[in-house]
Amino acid sequence: MNAKPRRSDGAGKSDLAAGLYVTATPIGHARDLTLRALDVLAAVDLVVAEDTRVSANLLAMHGLKRPLSAYNDHNAARERPKLLAWLRQGARIALVSDAGTPLVSDPGFKLVRAAIEEDLPVHAVPGPSAALAALTVSGLPSDRFLFAGFLPSRQGERRRALNELSTVGATLILFESAQRLAESLADMAEIFGVRSAAVARELTKLHEEVRRGTLDELASHYAREGAPRGEMTLVVSPPHPKASDTVRLDAALEKALALLPLRSAVDLVSALLEEPRRRVYERALALKIDG
Ligand code: SAM
Repeated sequence: MNAKPRRSDGAGKSDLAAGLYVTATPIGHARDLTLRALDVLAAVDLVVAEDTRVSANLLAMHGLKRPLSAYNDHNAARERPKLLAWLRQGARIALVSDAGTPLVSDPGFKLVRAAIEEDLPVHAVPGPSAALAALTVSGLPSDRFLFAGFLPSRQGERRRALNELSTVGATLILFESAQRLAESLADMAEIFGVRSAAVARELTKLHEEVRRGTLDELASHYAREGAPRGEMTLVVSPPHPKASDTVRLDAALEKALALLPLRSAVDLVSALLEEPRRRVYERALALKIDG
């Protein structure tokens, strides 16, 4: 269902300035649409949606009817020039995704970038996002965080990505599918070591649940109980400040290596410093090579 923009006919609504409105929509609870998002959706000439059926339902729920056009991974390259041409002519276009904030693991980045390159106005209409909602109920440090999107689905790539993330000194926020949750948590427990985490599931919906524990405890829970239903976001606490201290790690390893064979030294230091075994092993090899 692709439509051309139409000048809004609503009384008093047509004074909305021209431009692209990046508009957040609910992640579950229908009433989490902001009053401003309602105003913008009522006034724009066109709503550009990831899935027009999902967005048509949302508009209908709020008594709105605007022309809708699809913009998703399959048609973005084709649709982008048309949208930019309309924006150049002064159209008011709302960009929405199926749920939450567009561009956050959702389509829209290239459209926004192209609009900015042409000096076309881009407006934020902020609102719900699963990443921030999960962070706020996780009980984990919220002063510094890194949103890492979806992890790769293949185990090798996932473990490589987790190794990269293991030294980031910030709370991590990740999207994960129900099917891969237990596997990913187990990989994280092995690579990150002992860390607190939270699985925020079905936030703002009927079966909302936040399960908290160490990565290991959560991995065992989901391995035992099977894949949970619904959508989930993972939040993982930052590494212990001491654990990211390479100088301290090297000093401990040097002492242990003077007394023990490599594997035993790695086991001992990894247990004492609560450091991921892989990282300790890599440091031990480096120290051996350096002499
Ligand atoms: N742009 C969206 C946002 O800002 O929330 C995220 C889109 S991403 C394609 C969808 C992922 O967000 C899901 O796979 C899940 O990891 C997470 N998610 C979406 N809704 C959620 C909810 N109600 N509770 C927990 N996580 C959710």
